[in-house]
Amino acid sequence: MTKQQAGAKLQINIQQANIKEERTFVLLKPDAVQRGLVGEIVDRFERRGLKIIGLKMIHASREQIDAHYPISDAWLTRVGEKTLSTYEKYNMDAKAELGTNDPKKIGVMVRGWLVDFMTSGPMVKIVVQGIHAIDMVRKLAGNTIPAFAEMGTIRGDYSVDSAASANRDHRAIYNLIHASETIEEATHELDYWMSPEDIFTYKRSDDEVAFPSKRSE
Ligand code: ADP
Repeated sequence: MTKQQAGAKLQINIQQANIKEERTFVLLKPDAVQRGLVGEIVDRFERRGLKIIGLKMIHASREQIDAHYPISDAWLTRVGEKTLSTYEKYNMDAKAELGTNDPKKIGVMVRGWLVDFMTSGPMVKIVVQGIHAIDMVRKLAGNTIPAFAEMGTIRGDYSVDSAASANRDHRAIYNLIHASETIEEATHELDYWMSPEDIFTYKRSDDEVAFPSKRSE
């Protein structure tokens, strides 16, 4: 990478000093694409006042997905613990079904299923920009486990999948959407998935009315 390209990359990562220009990264997973929900999901972002500034369909490789998801013990254990909590809630025996109740081992298993799922069909990668874009998109997406997601959220309105049911079939939870959770994650994921030429700047017709640049006296 040349110095100029590195500089350009940095431009897409910067969580702008301007609060209206926070950027986040979204992947519409294969279930969203195959169920014809791309338009519906994009519409929810746009209606909320968030701006789509990059959008592209991809069919990711196993290597790409493997590098996308963290491999830290903390992440694997957290994912495993989420699984165990749904098993507990529904009085199901994790050990009998998964062969272990060690959260980290379950996390490793889930990570493998996730790679299978995310490479099973095309996905849509999106850059969303706007006020508190990272938190707003997570809120619109809803709980990771659709069965627990509030109605009115993307996952709550379009899926009822749960870890207990997915793990019984040895697959990842089908929950339609991935969205960065923190500024660090958004910065990393934007850098990893997008190039500067994939990002666009434009004015939306409602920009000035919804977000006036100056308070009128
Ligand atoms: P999120 O996508 O909400 O940030 P996580 O980072 O915890 O959630 O998990 C990443 C993805 O892994 C989830 O979106 C889901 O598809 C899958 N997943 C998480 N936990 C499980 C689980 N217990 N069983 C199957 N799949 C899971």
